[in-house]
Amino acid sequence: MSIKAENPRAWIEGLVQEFLANSPSNNLQNEAGDRAWDEALVGFASGADPIWQQYKEYVGAFHWTPWEVFNQHQPDEPVKAEELSVVSWVLPQREMVRKANLKQKKYPADVWARARIYGEQCNAALRNHLVDNLAQAGHPAVAPMLVSNWTVVNSQRFSYASSWSERHAAHAAGLGTFGLCDGLITAKGKALRVGSVVAKIQLEPTQRPYHDHRAYCLFYAEGTCGKCIDRCPVRALTEAGHDKEKCREHLVVTSQYVRETYNFVGYGCGLCQVGIPCESRIPVRAAREAYERGEIPPPPPPLA
Ligand code: SF4
Ligand code: SF4
Repeated sequence: MSIKAENPRAWIEGLVQEFLANSPSNNLQNEAGDRAWDEALVGFASGADPIWQQYKEYVGAFHWTPWEVFNQHQPDEPVKAEELSVVSWVLPQREMVRKANLKQKKYPADVWARARIYGEQCNAALRNHLVDNLAQAGHPAVAPMLVSNWTVVNSQRFSYASSWSERHAAHAAGLGTFGLCDGLITAKGKALRVGSVVAKIQLEPTQRPYHDHRAYCLFYAEGTCGKCIDRCPVRALTEAGHDKEKCREHLVVTSQYVRETYNFVGYGCGLCQVGIPCESRIPVRAAREAYERGEIPPPPPPLA
């Protein structure tokens, strides 16, 4: 029996890792021809997981469930939510990219901005690669970030939000929890890009090794840290969280810097993703050690 039939999760993870190992698109397009990404973290969630409905209620009605986005773009493939799975992956920033950005005080390092642009092009190619391979194997699939009606909308609660959030898909697929700065903290830290596809295939979901959507952030879990606040050059981070509008305005400013300094069209920042305890690992010790043992920590006691 082929690995595809015997262990479809391993087959799909293999597709991701082989693509990163062999695709010419995995390149920062700098003089050295550095790779953009090493290995990915891969997780799976069921299309019927109640968390998708919770996102809809919390983020807004515009946020798609896997069934909604699949149904819009594969209308000839009638499915029930439980026949769908979400494949999500995390692309951790390479050490040399993180180190370069650590030296920056206001604008992104060249390699960081390249990872944002060319690394993301590789991520888009990876999404298409999975959609094609799954379809060839009889599992039609959709990459929500690449469909024509994916959009960003104004949100009262979040300033703005999108119809599909890769970070939320990764959280659902057991890959991480959110930090004070809104970033996703994973077993490989918070400096990363994320991707996903929705496919008509039933896969055993990855168990989420956390009970709280902020379990890996020291600020929320232990009332300490806040180091990302000091890394932000424009005070877009405070103890109240992430000011998305200030952050977006700074990203616009970085585009001029990248063009004039590095001579390509790009942008980026991510200064709050390096030089902090969650840069490349889960900083909450109990959660990290439980993760390393492959255990799920017990739920916290109810508040008195
Ligand atoms: S730097 Fe500290 S406060 Fe900020 S996201 Fe990471 S763990 Fe949380
Ligand atoms: S990405 Fe940059 S501007 Fe945005 S919060 Fe992080 S450090 Fe601040």
